[in-house]
Amino acid sequence: MRILVVTTPMGPLGSGAGGGVELTALSLVAGLLQRGHQVMVLAAEGSRLPASCGGAELWLERGEAQPSCQHQERHSPLLIPADGLLPRLWRRALSEQHRADVILNLAYDWLPLWLTPHVTTPLAHLISMGSVGEAMDAVIAEVAARQPGRLAFHTAAQAADFSLPAAPRLVGNGFDLDQYGFNPQPERLLGWAGRIAPEKGLEDAAAVAAQLQIPLAVWGLPQDPAYARWVESSVPPGTLQWRGFLPTEQLQRELGRCAVLLNTPKWNEAFGNVVVEAMACGVPVAAYARGGPGELVQEGLTGALAAADDRAALALATERALGVERAACRRWAERHCSRAVFAERIEGWLEEVWREAGLQGGGAAAEGGPARRR
Ligand code: UDP
Repeated sequence: MRILVVTTPMGPLGSGAGGGVELTALSLVAGLLQRGHQVMVLAAEGSRLPASCGGAELWLERGEAQPSCQHQERHSPLLIPADGLLPRLWRRALSEQHRADVILNLAYDWLPLWLTPHVTTPLAHLISMGSVGEAMDAVIAEVAARQPGRLAFHTAAQAADFSLPAAPRLVGNGFDLDQYGFNPQPERLLGWAGRIAPEKGLEDAAAVAAQLQIPLAVWGLPQDPAYARWVESSVPPGTLQWRGFLPTEQLQRELGRCAVLLNTPKWNEAFGNVVVEAMACGVPVAAYARGGPGELVQEGLTGALAAADDRAALALATERALGVERAACRRWAERHCSRAVFAERIEGWLEEVWREAGLQGGGAAAEGGPARRR
């Protein structure tokens, strides 16, 4: 297939502003290339692709980044900045759509979802968050009612947030596990990684680290600096070690040094990339039993779970996770979250989208369809 992947309007790939979507995009593009597809990537100016995505065409657009919708009120109207990147990305996607058999949208935005029935080339969406606002809930429900095959979700817990008429398509996520080194010998150190923003619940991890008197290394983009300062002031000095935002090749080396990774989302985390990245390094995870991490962490096998928002239970879970076999975490990541398996699932989904659009007489699929082009 010729696949146009439209990435996030939150910022360039590699900046961290797009959160987990950035790594998901790169893994997906590399995996689809490996399976012999032709891939075009539409992204914000300043984006970089790693060598594994070298076979893809990169199309860049400028414009003001989209504000994050998870930081608005649930009933807020949608915002698009003047000179916004989001409409520029989609103007380009529409004007180049004849060059693709299928368009895959990775951004959690109203505009591409609304466009679904109006585009000639079939348009599919990998939804990257749970429910964060009414306008997005409504447009996702609308697509689900009219063209359910166009939507895929990372986990069952995430999909359960939305009004869907049929069982959702779940694709999990995948990682280039060769990039993550297994570390059998941790230090006396807890870890936490992610965007530093209130929905990620860093304050709970900090409180648990303070209680257990084990320092907590924190990696990630300070998306909300005032929140980061507040968390710092909530625990004794020295509890938190701020390590900044690192590219994957450095992050994995650092993650492997941790005895346990704490994952403390306050929202219905769609997947939780960092949970699997830690496991790939052999690091067990102590997490709240909520959202994606609640599905990824297997009690006693890959870490330990605590009732959501219960810090005392999380401290106990951290102690249990300290006893988990590190090699078992790596094995679980290899079995369930490899890039190859993820790309195969995405390929199967997009082929269905293309075939169905062809049967309905839509777009480039009508001229060929998967069978003819392959
Ligand atoms: N991350 C990174 N460098 C860091 C900290 C985090 O590249 O120093 C990346 C990490 O690899 C992961 C993403 O940030 O892909 C966070 O994704 P996650 O799914 O955990 O949460 P999201 O930000 O999507 O809510």
